[in-house]
Amino acid sequence: MYRTHTCGELRIQDKGRKVTLAGWVQKSRRLGGMTFIDLRDRYGITQLVVEADAPALLVETATSLGREFVIQIEGEVVERQSKNPKMPTGDIEIKTDKINILNKSITPPFTIEDESDGGEDIRAKYRYLDLRRGPLKKALTLRHKVAHEVRNYLDAKGFLEIETPYLIKSTPEGARDFVVPSRMNPGQFYALPQSPQTFKQLLMVAGYDRYFQIVRCFRDEDLRADRQPEFTQIDCEMSFVEQEDVLNTFEGMMRTLFKNVLDVDIPNPLPRMSWYDAMDRYGSDKPDVRFGMTIHEITSAAKGKGFGVLDGAAYIGAICVPGAAEYTRKQIDELTEWVKRPQVGAKGLIYIKVNEDGTYKSSIDKFYGPEDLEKIASAAEASKGDLILIMSGDNIRKVQTMLGVLRIEMGGRLGLRDPKVFAPLWIVDFPLLEWDDETQRFYAMHHPFTAPKPEHEKWFYSNKKEDLERVCANAYDFVLNGTELGGGSIRIHNADVQKRMFEVLGIGAEEAEYKFGFIINAFKFGAPPHGGLAFGFDRVCSLFGGSDSIRDYIAFPKNNQGRDVMIDSPSQIDREQLDELRIDIRADE
Ligand code: ASP
Repeated sequence: MYRTHTCGELRIQDKGRKVTLAGWVQKSRRLGGMTFIDLRDRYGITQLVVEADAPALLVETATSLGREFVIQIEGEVVERQSKNPKMPTGDIEIKTDKINILNKSITPPFTIEDESDGGEDIRAKYRYLDLRRGPLKKALTLRHKVAHEVRNYLDAKGFLEIETPYLIKSTPEGARDFVVPSRMNPGQFYALPQSPQTFKQLLMVAGYDRYFQIVRCFRDEDLRADRQPEFTQIDCEMSFVEQEDVLNTFEGMMRTLFKNVLDVDIPNPLPRMSWYDAMDRYGSDKPDVRFGMTIHEITSAAKGKGFGVLDGAAYIGAICVPGAAEYTRKQIDELTEWVKRPQVGAKGLIYIKVNEDGTYKSSIDKFYGPEDLEKIASAAEASKGDLILIMSGDNIRKVQTMLGVLRIEMGGRLGLRDPKVFAPLWIVDFPLLEWDDETQRFYAMHHPFTAPKPEHEKWFYSNKKEDLERVCANAYDFVLNGTELGGGSIRIHNADVQKRMFEVLGIGAEEAEYKFGFIINAFKFGAPPHGGLAFGFDRVCSLFGGSDSIRDYIAFPKNNQGRDVMIDSPSQIDREQLDELRIDIRADE
């Protein structure tokens, strides 16, 4: 037997016990002839001690141990002289009388302790060493726990976990597909699924009325910080349901996760906010509602004083930053530069300080007298001490979005975004379609399988742009602290409606048939009403862990360039492999 206990297990109650442990040497040190060794495994760290008067061979072995050697030891649990209350095993140590070196280690490239001295790149290259560290073990353990709770909950509700294929057909809509060449079908390609969307709907047609899967998905997107080309979703679908049934089921799942994983009670029922409210008040479809500082429209209050920028704008909006009336000129200049960064994209920032003594100071004093400023302050619902920050423009949603980004930034600066506070909610009533000026066409706001609200069908069949823009969907997102954790919709289950949807999206009948013929056809064989959603599993885990990096919650993640630097992938393949696939690499590559 390699071990009788783990390195995280022994306590003062075990005093006197003879034990065998196995693990990695985290570090060892000599102190007045004695050797102390921190022995680590998945479960924790236990201190070993080899006494000064132990047999010479044992002392010699103990002092020869390097970091990350794998050893097995025998000894007796004794009470420690100087206890370490920070360690669960800190009351005891093992008086060691036998050390068996199971394997040596070369010197690790960084220290494998909770706080490591290794930079990100070196830790990524030696991910298997990084994974030995406490914080990553904690992250992966939490991930397991979340998955386990999800399965328990959904199993109890009658959901079946069914796997769908990874080699499917390329139907890019939204993100780019990763493609896989088929050797047996030269010149043809599979695609890796961006989500199992069509397959889960086909399972509904097949009568499996409650499906879920914790499933890998692939999207070939330019990687923004903290996006992974392969990521995991908790993917779910139900038949014979309305939006209300889906929301209740999955609100219940999230409530259970919060309770069983974090021991946090979230509101019952969860708040809901329409997409329109979220955009108007928070400038975002994933509002962080842990704090207020909401957007106020001040268009009519701010116009008509001869200031061209505002007079010519279709929309003027403001947020009030509490306590920031004291900002110096320098701080405001810095903020103005901040909103001009491409990530925000504003042309400038107008401010009004509402001083404690009731006076005003603004960047538009030239055009606006105290009464005018007061009118704006009242429209913005400002209080004394507030700094009112104002943006304007012709595209309402664009201005609101910029104010939303500024709001999040100011919330962060004011310390209002505490990761230990959880404010989940549903965003509902999304528009079905989104117009893109550049390509002059509509895109599906969620995806092309989302159904229009039945009461909006009259607009859905209209050919007027304004009508189509008004169509809403029974689509919903689960949002937590400014992050979208999941989303879904009630689906189209009628072949004619699905055809119309493709038409609205500018996908011709032939193209629709080629790409989606299988699902349009399936809908002709008695498709039940259905709907579902998917949660971003990696993100759920990272937020539960109080971190904003999903990478820590994935055992072997890719870096920002989409590379796995540990296995050095992607990489070139042999000429022979290319020949088999009948693929040529262009010379200019
Ligand atoms: N398949 C969708 C997604 O990946 C989720 C859903 O509608 O169920 O976003």
